[in-house]
Amino acid sequence: MKPVDIKSLVNYVSLKILGGSDYLLDALEEYLVDGEGPAIVAHKYNISKHQLRGYAQRIIEKSGSEIRAKKVIPILKYISKGVEPIITRNDSGAYTCKICNTVVAREDTEEHVRKYHKDQLTLAVKSMMERLEEYRAKKEKAVAVATT
Ligand SMILES: [Zn+2]
Repeated sequence: MKPVDIKSLVNYVSLKILGGSDYLLDALEEYLVDGEGPAIVAHKYNISKHQLRGYAQRIIEKSGSEIRAKKVIPILKYISKGVEPIITRNDSGAYTCKICNTVVAREDTEEHVRKYHKDQLTLAVKSMMERLEEYRAKKEKAVAVATT
């Protein structure tokens, strides 16, 4: 089995969150981990079922399997705390970049982050990788306690 591509997962999630899709992990947790129906989850987060399945597929591919994806999603949720979107959707449905105050088309939000705010993306990835280290250290401690 393919190993979990954590770096790729972290990059993917960081870009999604910065680009304004900060519901991504909540939606995937409900759909993949809790087994909620795709129609219900998609409706709740105002995305299409097709999009939701697409997100799930990407996470499963990068995780190596669906079983692993189910384990990885709560970890990704934990380590992405503190990462905030830089592009936000307002009440009229327009996407605006908080940093350069530009209105961005919905389909261009991630491209905008990649192109103009690469430093923000690098910071988000770094923050998530650091929290992952913390998480792993904590987990090792917990395992050590449980096995002694
Ligand atoms: Zn911008």
